[in-house]
Amino acid sequence: MRLKVLGAYGASDAEHNLTGYLIDDWLAVDAGTLTSKLSFSQQARIQAVFITHPHADHIRDLPHLIHNRFSQNAGALTVFASKEVMELLVGNVFNGIVWPDFAKLISPITKAPAVIYRPMTPGKKVMCNGVGLTAVNVHHLIPAAGVIVEMNGQAISFTGDTGPTSEIWKRTNKTPNVVAVVTEASFPNDQQSLADETAHLSPNTFGDELKKITVDAPVYASHRKIPFERDIESQIRNLRDRRARVLLEKNYTL
Ligand SMILES: [Zn+2]
Ligand SMILES: [Zn+2]
Repeated sequence: MRLKVLGAYGASDAEHNLTGYLIDDWLAVDAGTLTSKLSFSQQARIQAVFITHPHADHIRDLPHLIHNRFSQNAGALTVFASKEVMELLVGNVFNGIVWPDFAKLISPITKAPAVIYRPMTPGKKVMCNGVGLTAVNVHHLIPAAGVIVEMNGQAISFTGDTGPTSEIWKRTNKTPNVVAVVTEASFPNDQQSLADETAHLSPNTFGDELKKITVDAPVYASHRKIPFERDIESQIRNLRDRRARVLLEKNYTL
């Protein structure tokens, strides 16, 4: 499968973008960066978006993606998230104040809803266009769930933001043919207390998580904070585990 990394950072400036991944041009995971890097027609090809949690850096472009849908001749966009995350999204973002509750509006182009919310039960696989999506809770400051995507006999496990966790590793280890794991290392090792306090990983705790992962696939550290990206990169390299990599903003063929 093709993984387009539109944003691989936990902060943004002119050259670094917030979390956003696109698989085979139609399935997105997180929406920090989608519309800002995709043309109108590329956006129209996105059929579904999985949201790990409602922190602003993971949803920044979601309202714009949905908003644009109302002027596109494209099928409804399906937004997937765990039940808890979906409630927070609808209650705090699509609440009629910050943004409209788009699911209640009919597109003038297609005469149908432009967006459909699909709350998921963590641990239970849901099928979307023949692709399996399993939300699995992780440990963050607010309710958050990563997702295991199973497509064409391959799987990728995305944690989204997380501190030390276990459930998603158990599930990942049991999933056949995992070709990549995308997790995070937000802060350098000398900011471990901030990482712990905010439920994120440093290269040190990323290394501890690696020990829980038994699959032989690259494990990517995403969500680096910009000023420390080089430190984090060298600390990841110093773990001396050949699976440990930093995630770059580029296209991966897996
Ligand atoms: Zn984040
Ligand atoms: Zn977060």
